[in-house]
Amino acid sequence: MNQPQSYYITGGAQGIGLGIAYMLLAEGHHVAITDIDEEALNAAEKRLTNRERLLTLTSDASDETQVAASLEKTVSHFGRLDGIVHNAGIADPFHGPIERLSLDTWQAYLNTNLTGAFLCAKHGAPYLRPHGGSIMLMASSRALQSEPDTEAYAASKGGIVALTHALAVSLGPDIRVNAVSPGWIEVGDWQKPSRQQTVEHRDIDREQHPVGRVGTPKDIAALTRFLLSEEAGFITGQNFVADGGMTRKMIYAE
Ligand code: NAD
Repeated sequence: MNQPQSYYITGGAQGIGLGIAYMLLAEGHHVAITDIDEEALNAAEKRLTNRERLLTLTSDASDETQVAASLEKTVSHFGRLDGIVHNAGIADPFHGPIERLSLDTWQAYLNTNLTGAFLCAKHGAPYLRPHGGSIMLMASSRALQSEPDTEAYAASKGGIVALTHALAVSLGPDIRVNAVSPGWIEVGDWQKPSRQQTVEHRDIDREQHPVGRVGTPKDIAALTRFLLSEEAGFITGQNFVADGGMTRKMIYAE
């Protein structure tokens, strides 16, 4: 196992972020999770094992003061910071037709999904630099392909991919920065109890993935863990698509 590290994960109380926290804690690391949903944070605290190495913080990833304060609390609690995962996001991509998309809604997507990444990098870089730390930004396969009525989400995730290479060039060689673009990840089991659901996937859902199944938070956690680790020391500025091959499958209507 690598030396225990200290990590900060935004939006870590549910879904993929919770899955990443679970894996990093199980491997002996120290993990701070932030979220805006206090009910979910409390539920995550109960669900996660290795709680002595867990710090939960209420913090809005789109708010500069709160991001700076929660990073500072993480460092004073653990004594150092080795990695940041900006995972918080408005995860539902569908906002309706562009003609009826309000400026407020457009900005809400950009504020959490993209500005949150900028704020993590801005306020996290000074803590990461001394240890040769790493940043992972959560993008999406929707940065590369779309369904109708998802402009704000797609633009926010496309912005993440561009921000990733820009940051990698500015912050290297001290800090590596990469993005992960998940495809369809089933997070129903990884929600707070009041939102939990067991989703049955149809054959057609599985078959559109060359690997024959929908993804899980564990799939994204495994890639994240690798990118944060020293084993990924030659990798920066990249976007890694983890989608079971869905974006590689050519589809013609029958
Ligand atoms: P989720 O809704 O299960 O979890 C997201 C968490 O982020 C929630 O706990 C929520 O309370 C929190 N959050 C939302 N806004 C926040 C803010 N401003 N500050 C702090 N916390 C905030 O979603 P998920 O499916 O686990 O998605 C996690 C990330 O992965 C998102 O960035 C999403 O866009 C991305 N993603 C998800 C999928 C998928 O299929 N699930 C696919 C591609 C990308």
